[in-house]
Amino acid sequence: MAEDRRGAILRLASWTRSDNPITRHMVGVQPPDSINLAGGLPAPELFPVEEVRAATDRALRRFGPRALAYGPVAGLPELRALLARRFSRPGRRLGPENVVVTSGGLQALDFLGRALLERGDAILAQFPTYLGAIDAWKPAHPRHLALDWDAAPDAQQAAMQAAKFTYCVPNFSNPTGELVPLPRRRALLAAARAARALLVEDDPYGALYYDGSPLPTLFDLEAGDGGEGPYRGNVLHLGTLSKSIGPGLRIGWAVGDAAVVDAICMAKQGSDIGTSSFVQAVALELLEAGVDHAVHDRMIETYRARRDALVAAAQEHLSRRFVFEAPVGGMFLWLRARDPALDTGTLWPVAMAEGVSYAPSAVFDASGALHDCLRLNFTLNPEPRLVEGARRLARAVERHLQQPPAASGSSEDKPG
Ligand code: PMP
Repeated sequence: MAEDRRGAILRLASWTRSDNPITRHMVGVQPPDSINLAGGLPAPELFPVEEVRAATDRALRRFGPRALAYGPVAGLPELRALLARRFSRPGRRLGPENVVVTSGGLQALDFLGRALLERGDAILAQFPTYLGAIDAWKPAHPRHLALDWDAAPDAQQAAMQAAKFTYCVPNFSNPTGELVPLPRRRALLAAARAARALLVEDDPYGALYYDGSPLPTLFDLEAGDGGEGPYRGNVLHLGTLSKSIGPGLRIGWAVGDAAVVDAICMAKQGSDIGTSSFVQAVALELLEAGVDHAVHDRMIETYRARRDALVAAAQEHLSRRFVFEAPVGGMFLWLRARDPALDTGTLWPVAMAEGVSYAPSAVFDASGALHDCLRLNFTLNPEPRLVEGARRLARAVERHLQQPPAASGSSEDKPG
């Protein structure tokens, strides 16, 4: 498509043909009065602006010119050391060699793909799959295998061995908001160990539990039998400051086996040489001052109330057409159409015309086939906007169902 538009000047790589505009829409300027339920965006009024201002001042005093210089590819040593301490457990002591600081958590997924994937390699991934991960891995044209949590141990091990790595988001998956229960976590970890497979645990939402107590992560479960030597586990654990402080910092990390960390650094060297020294210095000051913990309680209260409001509004306005479960945490409500013929891709422009946006399910499926679900975000907007968004979406669905089906069914009309 893009090739046709720009003709002979741009000879785009073939992966760009599967581009989708959803992420750009989600983080871009919205039409006036449109309600954005599409993005995985935090509430900007919770960003600790004053604390970041003070941390910036301290960082510049502390690091001086170092804050404006190139730094080591793997990250500011002080920040790596702090993260290593944070993720150490009895029986699993991590050192800085187990940590790489990345420009957002998504960069770790990108670099993992660059370092590990040959064209056509397989990835075993939780399905539906985080859109950013699908986008990041596109240049390698991977084959996507869907992770089956209930597979028998032998089958699970075989699936893991057939893939370069296994990818999952056990805490409030994006897009479904699903919380993977403890027995499934244990079983997956056991299979990864038996298969000697790399298990990538992406955990941007782990602090966002609104009900019940947090489950141990795969990385936590792995602690305890590592002895005193260097960490050599199967799990690569990814985190970010995007949900706990603010995504504009673009600070994330990958923590795991030093060889895997090193592979990520290899790709990082050829990309940005290192995450911004300046922002890393600020992030270090923020974490040392416990700013992420200080904003946590207010964040949970705000998001829990918003979750409740959207779930109630969905119950009232959308349950005639969709089924869903209230998520226990995270940022998303996932709805499945009662009528499997409903196409949330062709619904999307109708919803936009009604003044509401959402993320259609096709973008969370590398094959683009999953068409009867949609994802709503509940963290960005205050309660009245969420309720109005659900009303607008319900109106859009009814209008869409009254439209005659498109003659060609062209996928180019769809947003993903
Ligand atoms: N993984 C998942 C599952 C996500 O939902 C996100 C954010 N949307 C990220 C990684 C990365 O976020 P960031 O790059 O802002 O750290």
